[in-house]
Amino acid sequence: MKIENLKKANVGYTNTPLEFMENLSKKLGKGNLYIKRDDMSGLALGGNKTRKLEYLVQFAIDNGYTALMTFGGVQTNHGRLTVAAAVKYGLKPILVLKGKKPDYLSGNLLLDRLMGADIYFVDYSSAENLPKTERQIIEKKFLQECADKIVKKYEIQGEKVLSIPVGGQGVIGSAGYAMFVPEIMKQMKEQNITAKYLVCGYGSTGTFAGLWAGAKYFNAPFEVIGIPIEPDYTPVEDTVKSINEINKFFDMGFTCEKKDLHLEIGSDPIPYGGTNYNEPDIETQKNLELMASTEAIILDPCYTGKIFRGFVDLIEKEIIPANENVILLHSGGAPGLFGKEHCDSLQKLLWSDEEKDHVTVMKL
Ligand SMILES: *Cc1c(COP(=O)(O)O)cnc(C)c1O
Repeated sequence: MKIENLKKANVGYTNTPLEFMENLSKKLGKGNLYIKRDDMSGLALGGNKTRKLEYLVQFAIDNGYTALMTFGGVQTNHGRLTVAAAVKYGLKPILVLKGKKPDYLSGNLLLDRLMGADIYFVDYSSAENLPKTERQIIEKKFLQECADKIVKKYEIQGEKVLSIPVGGQGVIGSAGYAMFVPEIMKQMKEQNITAKYLVCGYGSTGTFAGLWAGAKYFNAPFEVIGIPIEPDYTPVEDTVKSINEINKFFDMGFTCEKKDLHLEIGSDPIPYGGTNYNEPDIETQKNLELMASTEAIILDPCYTGKIFRGFVDLIEKEIIPANENVILLHSGGAPGLFGKEHCDSLQKLLWSDEEKDHVTVMKL
């Protein structure tokens, strides 16, 4: 099957805007900086999982599935968008979230509940003090047991449940980002832009893998640079494997080796990926503020704030050569900014000192 002929559902909008960031380009003074607005993908506040879900939902429909189940952290954007896609197509939305049930409903989780998702929390807290490797084995086994139980429960009710991996990772989901490449090449041509680099996030890796495969297959003029969004990121070898699987599945006619992939991790004191997955950190927060106050574009503290921090640093340090045209992929995630832990953490940066924060109270 040629990837161009793979059918997809209309879950959201493609052809998201490709915009020039004039203020930021002036401020940094080292190149022409563009942004591809996949945060504006139209589905339930948008984000990169929309493109993956177009193909995953089509697969579900073609194969008679009646429910979509997926996995993630408590504030998963992928979970929110899977719920949204399921609702749109009359499928049952089921979320299996790794972590304790929070006392306070906020961020993505609030949207999941509004859209009527069935939510299961897989609470590992009793294994918290075990050594890391042992803990990971136990957690993985428990998660599988829980998932099996949940699927069985719905099957008894007559549902057929499609289990979608974390982040929509895999060959089908990645097709969304491979097919992003001809779309952006067409926009670049229309706007008369040539760009040597496209910077994106590297989380569950489906976006990076799809983009890399698409760039190769469609002969894109740009190299794809991935920024890991956590310090403990997926090994490059695993992504090479994913890319070669995409190649094999769609018969794309290339090979990919480890040396072909370009990730930028950043360095001390905190890597671009921050201190931990979805943990607030001041470097990321400062970059959220930079983007919002120069371009009025809202990033998120779990993914795009970190990716943007990497993007800016690569330009400032001229790791990306000066005066190039560079494109940043905005992969969405803003609802996570309204998660309670991030709101709490941002009080200090933006709401602690009336004078510094330009906040004035005028009493009668
Ligand atoms: C999931 C996600 C990413 C990372 O994409 P992967 O395909 O998982 O690597 C980046 N940004 C946002 C906002 C996301 O939700």
